[in-house]
Amino acid sequence: MVEHGPLFGAMLQEFEGAARILNLEPGIWKTLTHPKRQIIVSCPIQMDNGEIEVFTGYRVQYNITLGPAKGGIRYHPGVNLDEVTALAAWMTWKCAVAHIPFGGGKGGVICDPTTLSRRELEALTRRYIAEIIDAIGPEKDVPAPDVNTNEQIMAWVMDTYSMHVGHTETAVVTGKPLELGGSLGRREATGRGVMIVARESAKHVGFDIKGATVAVQGFGNVGSISAELLAGIGAKIVAVCDWKGGVYNPKGLDVTQLIAHVAQHKTVEGFAGADALDNAQLFKLDVDILIPAALENQITMDNAPAIRAKVLVEGANGPTTPDAHRHLHERGVFVVPDILANSSGVTTSYFEWVQDRYGYFWTEKEVNERLEAKMCEAFNAVLKTAIKFKVDMRTAAYIVAINRVATVTRLRGMYA
Ligand code: GLU
Repeated sequence: MVEHGPLFGAMLQEFEGAARILNLEPGIWKTLTHPKRQIIVSCPIQMDNGEIEVFTGYRVQYNITLGPAKGGIRYHPGVNLDEVTALAAWMTWKCAVAHIPFGGGKGGVICDPTTLSRRELEALTRRYIAEIIDAIGPEKDVPAPDVNTNEQIMAWVMDTYSMHVGHTETAVVTGKPLELGGSLGRREATGRGVMIVARESAKHVGFDIKGATVAVQGFGNVGSISAELLAGIGAKIVAVCDWKGGVYNPKGLDVTQLIAHVAQHKTVEGFAGADALDNAQLFKLDVDILIPAALENQITMDNAPAIRAKVLVEGANGPTTPDAHRHLHERGVFVVPDILANSSGVTTSYFEWVQDRYGYFWTEKEVNERLEAKMCEAFNAVLKTAIKFKVDMRTAAYIVAINRVATVTRLRGMYA
């Protein structure tokens, strides 16, 4: 076994619970618990002050059995190989649960994008992509946005790759601006999927989504759009926290106005008509639905015992540690795991990749209808598995995912 850190260790624990139930044979077990390829690159950049800085970047292709590696690129000071490897493994299971023909990958660059100018950000993006260029491509590995990366950065990824191969290649990356081969609905996709699974969970657990109370941790692309769409179907968003502070209004926050506030102030803090609250208080609220939509390791045994929500929908990747998850499940909290709850981002990335390769683009209605169908298919497959094996939804999602990847691994056989 290769050396690994705590986040990959958490992924392994989750994997093992499901693999044991599946009676997975040792050979496939070993294959599926090793990353296929881990790339580390150094990216020297000339900063605006004339000095050279060197940034470390990673791209991990965890498994490519079902198709090209697929997964985002994050820019964050805390990026490390353990994190990127765990996230690439989660992408593998996510794509399999979503039933789309992709393997799993992830990339990251250690940097603080808030301190970089636009020119530095572009230079860093282009250099990082140039360093991993032989490993990516529409048939090999297709990056996308993740924490602190956006459509503009994806446009630079697409351009750098296209310049290298000598022709425009839109399908090398997803989450692009519409004008250069992006898909309608992609930006809202992850939040839309979170809304869909929250709605389906309410039906399953037995409460009305209309009037249901919701607390959201994180107000980036995933948190803000989940909140907006849930409010749109009648749920009451009572609390939101972000990197700087939080706001609470038991009568419900006006999410559209909150989004406008954040566009101006970069934080929810100071939003009129709401009380301040911090992260620890948000987790303790007596709400129907709690949505962690920030970073990993947010719900631990330090705060899980105080959680009172009926349903936890993991908008972020890896927000709950394995012991906290066990505790919540035993207390009867219905947890919709990340690899199911936020899979609509990559599902719509798949739609974007299909449209780019086809050269024929769908209407927003077509995208959203197909997404609704795919998310309900995935949710029902996992729920059915959870009931059949009498396990929690996370173990069930892993059972569905591992089974799909293992079946194809067996059919393909071993090379050499
Ligand atoms: N970064 C997103 C995720 O973690 C989307 C990945 C993609 O679209 O490839 O699922």
